[in-house]
Amino acid sequence: MGMILVYSRNNASCNVLYNRSGKLMQCIVNRRAQFSASHRYWLPELSEVENVQRFGLCTRAPGHGHNYVLFVSIAGEVDEYGMVQNLSEVKQVIKQEITSHLDFSYLNDVWLEFQQTLPTTENIARVIWQRLLPYLPLVRVQLFEHPELWADYQGNGMEAYLTISIHFSAAHRLAQPSLSYEENCEIYGKCARPNGHGHNYHLEVTVKGEIDPRTGMIVDLGALQKVIEDRVVEPFDHTFLNKDIAYFAKVVPTAENIALYISSLLKSPIRELGTELHKVKLIESPNNSCEVILTTLNDTENPTTLPHSLTSKT
Ligand SMILES: [Zn+2]
Ligand SMILES: [Zn+2]
Repeated sequence: MGMILVYSRNNASCNVLYNRSGKLMQCIVNRRAQFSASHRYWLPELSEVENVQRFGLCTRAPGHGHNYVLFVSIAGEVDEYGMVQNLSEVKQVIKQEITSHLDFSYLNDVWLEFQQTLPTTENIARVIWQRLLPYLPLVRVQLFEHPELWADYQGNGMEAYLTISIHFSAAHRLAQPSLSYEENCEIYGKCARPNGHGHNYHLEVTVKGEIDPRTGMIVDLGALQKVIEDRVVEPFDHTFLNKDIAYFAKVVPTAENIALYISSLLKSPIRELGTELHKVKLIESPNNSCEVILTTLNDTENPTTLPHSLTSKT
């Protein structure tokens, strides 16, 4: 579902920011572009065994490819022509500086930057930022390697964000055990019906970390995927959450509570991988999603101390 939301954007869009007095401050304009390119994860200073241990199938010669989708966000005040920057110029700069080089290229060889630091999604986003910065008032570069994996870079040194999107299917019922059926129907509507209902949940997990100057990675992607699979997908998929997940015996499994619980499950194992869980977004349906920004959860919190009062009608 995250994929559909993102790809349904037009090639260009605009958000307007206002200050407290309601005066126009600046506009963020997003421009989309795409390129197809190949790459290979291989460090010549490592042995074949070490390369395979680190990068798995991505070591295979002569490489493999992706259809990359790029979103470039710029910000500024609107000029007398009603624009932050002329979009045809923006389009031209992206083509001239980025896509004309990268489209149908072998990334490892196309730019020197990728010989120093492997062309991972997060590192490509960083290098695109560096190359566009002389021409555009950038605020963000977002790069999709495919619809379930993307990086965000905002110009802060080697810091980048990486997001994995996965899904699981589960049933739930929204009802407080202490309340009557009528009272629960009053609060939760149809979601309180006694035998539950189900969703195809989409989950976006965003981690924040420093890009390694050699591997180009903020985290071992395979290890991150395994953590999400082991801690969330495997235990949650095809369950009745209220009965199969002990935590939800007492806590109503609203999207908010599920997202908070998933955050608490992932936080420590992701830290053990050397990166930080930044955000969990749980998309319950095309109409309904919930985001947890991890700075709002303090370090000592665990599933048993999560707030039990966060409930809402889904
Ligand atoms: Zn790849
Ligand atoms: Zn529901």
